[in-house]
Formats: sequence, structure tokens, C-alpha cells
Amino acid sequence: MNTLTIDIGGTKLAAALINENDEILQRREMSTPSSTSPADLEYALSQLVKPYKGLAGRVAVASTGIIDKGILTALNPDNLGGLNAFPLQATIEALTGLPCRVLNDAQAAAWAEYSRLSASVQNMAFITVSTGVGGGIVLNGELLTGPHAFAGHLGHCQADPQGPICGCGRIGCVEVIASGRGIASAAVQDLEGKNAREIFQAAQSGHAQAQKLVTRSAQAICQLIGNLKALLDIDCIVLGGSVGLAQNYREQVEQLLSQLPPAYHVSILPAHFQHDAGLMGAAMWQAK
Ligand SMILES: [Zn+2]
Repeated sequence: MNTLTIDIGGTKLAAALINENDEILQRREMSTPSSTSPADLEYALSQLVKPYKGLAGRVAVASTGIIDKGILTALNPDNLGGLNAFPLQATIEALTGLPCRVLNDAQAAAWAEYSRLSASVQNMAFITVSTGVGGGIVLNGELLTGPHAFAGHLGHCQADPQGPICGCGRIGCVEVIASGRGIASAAVQDLEGKNAREIFQAAQSGHAQAQKLVTRSAQAICQLIGNLKALLDIDCIVLGGSVGLAQNYREQVEQLLSQLPPAYHVSILPAHFQHDAGLMGAAMWQAK
């Protein structure tokens, strides 16, 4: 049976048809509506799934935000324009007439990455560092979602009690320091107004402030990994996202982690799936 899988992000909506061998047969994407109207999101989703009518037997959805009992809530109002309490599962079921399962996008990506690891790995954490910071945790071979679907929102662990306020409302979250947005917003002087990609380029060419901003991000991720090791004794970390996979970033996190006492050391692997992690993970989780 083919699965129609949908990924809802802050900037794009993607859909794909995936067969039983986890191969993508068809794929399309469009921009996420910039308005905060639920009707606009519903209309965009109806256009997205239209070409797949009659081709799939079920639907799997990965979305940004907290997806609790089929309802989408934006933890950070900067993402998805503050859409609140959107009935995601019911909307997709009504649009497609198919059974649907919904999951947070980083939790879905964690499941996709976990499925590729050796069977001896039972406990892992996935961290994605891009515009924001997301995560997912697998414990004893099971994806941890929690009773309110909040488990594994690693970007909202605290990194600095004196830090800036995060989009979620808490002070000094990992996301507000380590993410691409966090790196860019801390830039001053000649780097002010530059995006994370430009700051990474400046760091590569030896710009001192740019290097400091990247190190500050890597340090927040390193300490998050140390906390995860102490909390869950995980076997490995998978690091993804445009920042997480940027040149030398993972190596820098590894180098910082090696300075912590040995009990905190854990291997850090680069993510395998890139843009399709949410799509693949939701489909794999739906099928399990
Ligand atoms: Zn936060």
C-alpha cells in the first residue's frame, strides 16, 4: 500500500507518495501560506494533496509545532504565523478520505534517522539545527512522544538563564542561541543584518566575531548533548539541519564535547536524510 506523506513547515509544504519499500515515487512542494488564517492553510493543503487522489491508502503527516491528539499548536508563534489549535488530522482526513496519522516533524525525522542505525542502537537523540532547533528521542527502540506530544523538543531546553527570550516565551532556550536565527540575531557591527549562511562564510574566512557566534552555537549544542547523556545515557546523537550539517560545525561540537569528562562523551553522526527526513519518518512511523 502506498502512503501519501505530507510535511508542513514554516516556509514550505511538501507531499510525496511513498511505496512499501520506503521509496519516494512522486514529490511536490509549495510555499506555506504567509497568513495566519486556518482557512488559508486548509486551502493550501487541499491543493497540495489533489494530484494524489486515488493513489494512496493512507496518509502520514509531519508538521512543525506540537501535534497533540491530531491538533496542531505552534509552540513558537514565529513559526506558522501563530496558527493555534488547528485540527490537522481531521482536516487531512476530510480532504483525502483516508486514515491519517500526524507527528511533529523533528520527531518524524528522528524516527527516519533511527531506522537507518545499527540494530544494536536502542537509545538515540536526533538534533536538527537550522532556522530553529528541533529534536526527537528514541528510547528502548521506541519513539518518545509523551502524553502531550511535547517529548524531545530539545531546542527549548535552557542553555543560558541570562540569555535572550525565546519565541516560546522562555528565557535562554538552546534555540534562541544555537539556531540560524539565534546566530544572526546576536551579530553586531559589520555582521549586523547578515544571515546565518553569511556568518558561516565569514567564520570560514577567519572573521573573529563570526567564529565566536558559531562557537557559541556549537557550545550550546555540546552542553545539550552532555545533558542528554546524563539524563538518558543515549548510545548516539544524530545531528542534522542546515547549521548542524554546515562545514566543520559537527567537528566543532565534537571537539567541545571531548573537553567534558568522559562520562559525557557520545558519538555524533551526521544526519542521512536532508529535506525528506520529515516525509520519510512520518511514513515509516505510520507503517510500523
Ligand atoms: Zn524556547
